[in-house]
Amino acid sequence: MNQDPPERLDHFMARAAAAYYAGRDPFGASGDFTTSPEISQAFGECLGLWCAVVWRAMGQPDPVLLVELGPGRGTLMADALRAVATVMPEFRESLQVHLVEQSPSLRLTQARTLLPTGAAPFWHDSIDTLPEGPALILANEFLDALPIRQFIRRGDGWMERYVAAGAFVELQAEGAPALPGDAPEGAVQETCEAGLGLARQLAARIADQGGAALFIDYGPGRSGPGDSLQALRQHQSADPLGPAGSADLTAHVDFQAIATAARAGGARAEGPLPQGIFLQGLGLITRASMLARSHPASAGMQLSAAQRLIAPEGMGRLFKALGLCHPDLPTLPGFETA
Ligand code: SAH
Repeated sequence: MNQDPPERLDHFMARAAAAYYAGRDPFGASGDFTTSPEISQAFGECLGLWCAVVWRAMGQPDPVLLVELGPGRGTLMADALRAVATVMPEFRESLQVHLVEQSPSLRLTQARTLLPTGAAPFWHDSIDTLPEGPALILANEFLDALPIRQFIRRGDGWMERYVAAGAFVELQAEGAPALPGDAPEGAVQETCEAGLGLARQLAARIADQGGAALFIDYGPGRSGPGDSLQALRQHQSADPLGPAGSADLTAHVDFQAIATAARAGGARAEGPLPQGIFLQGLGLITRASMLARSHPASAGMQLSAAQRLIAPEGMGRLFKALGLCHPDLPTLPGFETA
């Protein structure tokens, strides 16, 4: 029998994420899930060009930090660097690559992926050790991996969910954030303090030192109640409270709350915009058509991959893009319709 005391959900989730990513490469058909950069190279290329355009609007600072949070296999960064080297070589020459990644085995994979690009990346456990200076920051499916707290409506108050022996237990909420005054019995409200803190910190940095950040993740456009904790193992949903590290745990990102935190930190926030609209605005379809023409053998694959990223019934609607930037910058690329 498990005698351990109940563990608050965010603590359990942080421990589970560290154990999960520490020793494996979970991406792709043979792994647990597939992400946009692994679906189409056009994704990372378009994001690289997004950075190049923003860099120009910033007045082309040299040096400039190109930062990625949670780079996975390093595919997005490799595709971005290749694209900017071709389209805006002066940006490629000015940028320094910084990767925020805690997993030792993924750091190795990232080093291998980035070798052909000639980049000499710096790795960080968190954003705290990034050097000062203007920065362009990318994060795809990073926020969804950060630990959440869950509160459940009981009577006329809220209890907090803890994990004990693979099941939820409800305990008195201590140090809870502001929660709605009213909600139906059993309603679940989530908060991601790590995500909000990160947004506030990055926004303050951007307001002070210049730059922009782009977050892409899945979640609703508006805040609201709901239990979005999920676990994936070999592309199937699994028990989120199973042994820590046995599956990928994620939660929907509350983009409205992230945008509010970023504004409080001093940045301008643009979006959230559905990923499909955002990527179409950046020319993803045009890029995929070019790839299809130059690689006839894989033309069908190139086009269907782009379609999957853009189609509302694929990843185009559930995924959202949120931009943060220095208040003096013009509208960020892709957000003109937001
Ligand atoms: N962006 C990649 C990978 C997404 S998976 C892609 O789109 O393919 C989440 C990534 O974030 C992994 O690289 C994981 O190791 C990293 N990660 C998760 N939690 C983290 C944390 N708290 N600090 C730093 N990296 C983290």
